[in-house]
Amino acid sequence: MDAEVLYLNGEFKSLEDGWVRIEDRGFELGDGIYEVVKVMNSKAVWLEDHLVRLYRSLGEIRLTDASVGHEFETVLPELVERSGIANGMVYVQVTRGHAPRDFVFPHPPNPTVLAYARAKKLPTEEEIHRGTVLHPVEDMRWARCDIKSTNLLAAVLAKEEAKEAGADEALFLDSEGLVREGGSSNVFAVLDGVIRTHPLSNRILGGITRLHVIEIARALGYTVEERAFTLADITSAAPAGCEVFTASTLKDMLPVVRVGSHQVGDGKAGTVTLTVLDRFRQIQAALVGLPEPRPLAAGR
Ligand code: PMP
Repeated sequence: MDAEVLYLNGEFKSLEDGWVRIEDRGFELGDGIYEVVKVMNSKAVWLEDHLVRLYRSLGEIRLTDASVGHEFETVLPELVERSGIANGMVYVQVTRGHAPRDFVFPHPPNPTVLAYARAKKLPTEEEIHRGTVLHPVEDMRWARCDIKSTNLLAAVLAKEEAKEAGADEALFLDSEGLVREGGSSNVFAVLDGVIRTHPLSNRILGGITRLHVIEIARALGYTVEERAFTLADITSAAPAGCEVFTASTLKDMLPVVRVGSHQVGDGKAGTVTLTVLDRFRQIQAALVGLPEPRPLAAGR
């Protein structure tokens, strides 16, 4: 049986026994950062990459010292083991802790450090083939989207709007129609045989999946350019010359079959997308000690 185990400020306890104070700055001010790590076959996938990003986020909000005394490299795998989950996620959050409400930093710092593991279904072959639908919205977020901040209100509203429009994910566009990323994913397009995605900047989160997709696609011989594309590039492309996919930790790569009212390609998962995803899934399975998954490209 899966147990909901929490790591809170150095102690393991059950998730329902974990409390933070009302004046925690994460709660009142959104003064915190987080990470989501995928668990497959009871192993935390690409943990080192997530920890590099976690420490970077902490540095960017000047909270580096919060990680002192918390050995995430060992605590997070231990959390997965104690939770007994095979597939799901580890959620990690670090806030500037509780202090009488004030915008400026409390002295001395008093961070809240927590992590828990939760079982979650990873996408099935059927879901991958069915593909995903994006709903374009104007990007109303702040100008530091490279920090994995717990301030997610703009993404919450965008993703709810997407859901109400019958889509699966929001697609953040700048005022010129340039595709930045998804509500909680990076977005790639295959245009004229070139795989493109928004370059790393303050306008997007540097996704761990994005990183591995780029590396894997290049190793397969594809040209990958970190060069943004517009919504019009997708909607005006000849169906045969266009694929779109999302990339995120808990969903890997998902083929996009529709953006707003526009069908992408032939409305099915694209061949380049599935070829890269097959290699991605092979590599991940090998990393966590699972047998090689059945190729998806063959089932197209
Ligand atoms: N962009 C945003 C805005 C996200 O919230 C996420 C998911 N955390 C991603 C991209 C994908 O990042 P990752 O591959 O590290 O999950």
